Amino acid sequence: MQKTELEVIIVGAGPAGLTLACELRLAGIRVAVLERRQEATVHSRALTIHGRTLEMLGLRGLDQRFIALGKTLPTGHFAGLDTRLDFSGFDTPHPYTLFLPQSTTERLLEEQLLQDDLAVWRGALVEQTEQDEHGVTVAGTHDGAPFTLRARYLVGADGGRSLVRQQAGIAFEGLAASCSMIMGDVLLKYPPASPMLAMTNTAGSLMMVPLGNGRYRVIVMNAQRPHVAVSEAATLKELSQVSTAIAGHDFGLHDPTWLSRFGDETRLAQRYRQGRLFLVGDAAHIHMPTGGQGMNVGMQDAMNLGWKLGGMIKGQAPDSLLDSYHAERHPVGLALQHNTLAQTALLTRFDARMLALRDTISDMLLEPELNRKMASDLSGFGLRYAAPLAASAPLGNADWTGRRIPDWLLRLHDGTAVGIHELLHAGKWLHLSFDGAPATLPYAFDTSWLTSLQVKQAGPRLAGLKSLLIRPDGYADNAA
Ligand SMILES: Cc1cc2nc3c(=O)[nH]c(=O)nc-3n(C[C@H](O)[C@H](O)[C@H](O)COP(=O)(O)OP(=O)(O)OC[C@H]3O[C@@H](n4cnc5c(N)ncnc54)[C@H](O)[C@@H]3O)c2cc1C
Repeated sequence: MQKTELEVIIVGAGPAGLTLACELRLAGIRVAVLERRQEATVHSRALTIHGRTLEMLGLRGLDQRFIALGKTLPTGHFAGLDTRLDFSGFDTPHPYTLFLPQSTTERLLEEQLLQDDLAVWRGALVEQTEQDEHGVTVAGTHDGAPFTLRARYLVGADGGRSLVRQQAGIAFEGLAASCSMIMGDVLLKYPPASPMLAMTNTAGSLMMVPLGNGRYRVIVMNAQRPHVAVSEAATLKELSQVSTAIAGHDFGLHDPTWLSRFGDETRLAQRYRQGRLFLVGDAAHIHMPTGGQGMNVGMQDAMNLGWKLGGMIKGQAPDSLLDSYHAERHPVGLALQHNTLAQTALLTRFDARMLALRDTISDMLLEPELNRKMASDLSGFGLRYAAPLAASAPLGNADWTGRRIPDWLLRLHDGTAVGIHELLHAGKWLHLSFDGAPATLPYAFDTSWLTSLQVKQAGPRLAGLKSLLIRPDGYADNAA
């Protein structure tokens, strides 16, 4: 590996690091992605991609590649409660969750990077990272040979045990693990009638999810042995015994391709930015993987950081824009921590009181408003950022600030109709003018980073607006 004029080094080629690399390449940034694993992983921790993550992939024209290889489901779950969360009513091209193994998600992102002429440096183990006034230095071994790299910025996308975070001395406070679950990817002789099985009773909790080709993921929490350390090997025997205790039989589970144990350790990085260094994904937040959120939030962290870092490096935006990464994403990490702790409580205690609480909340979720609120929090559709970023362009209507803009159709003056999301494919800001006024707004950012369009006709949701400024990640910044 040679010294290169790099702008960004990303440590870790998981979903967060790869998503960030795609965003930076789109902006034309020189990036190195360093990954210690020689080969892409065959095991998939994550299976669920939420609608908002798909929408964000759609902002770059990538969503259909993912959908083509997965299976959509209009509902999701909170703590495995009987009443499922309903995504079908959201105003989005993706009112569902997509079942897709994490290994496929990573492969598709890596393929996109290759199209953008960037190969992940596999077999590159990072051992030392530091920053100074002018840049960052990263050292380690690549295929066993020592290397040192310099770049302007460093991103730790290196997972929950992040070396980047540890060497930067960023606190990772939270709760130690209190319990663990077993999961197995197995074949079933007697599959359940319902494709998504979730049961909780005094013996523990059980979830089953079809993986395709007759294979299922079975996840159990054993009420008799809740505190097992994650380092203790999971066995097919225990998976079978606990399934039987909960469901009365073990569905004939056999032939596992993967058995693993995971816990509820929950921590959040105190800072997502430290000078020239950033944390994304599990490097910034870990929690019990319930509700299928960790990878989604990590990819959305990367979407938030990517265009900001790209714009700043290209001189289109001031350094202060980078501070908004922590300001916007740390509260999301906090909310993630909060909802997964609540789910963990509901999923890991099995006395009559807790079972009654589960039933009570499940009943409340029959109320459409409550169901929608929970579904919108879990999926990311409900996220709203607090402050406008193009601060020197106060257009006047704060109601729109920070809201996600659905893929509404616009009719332009030349008669063409186009969806808003397609107009964001290039990763630029988008200014829509509805009253014909030119975009001579006092942007804090370079106007070469802006697509400006006169709109002839827009749908009812945009009625009454004169102007709408949309960020590259699809959130409204400002409106008038
Ligand atoms: C059982 C289970 C089920 C889950 N299901 C879901 C789900 O359905 N939906 C969801 O959204 N999330 C789910 N998650 C969580 C999800 O898997 C993680 O949040 C996600 O993998 C985090 O992505 P990441 O890119 O931040 O980190 P990782 O995927 O951990 O990637 C980090 C990468 O960095 C590399 N690396 C680490 N240290 C170094 C180093 N020193 N040098 C070089 N490379 C290094 C690692 O090899 C790794 O490839 C689940 C987790 C578990 C355990």
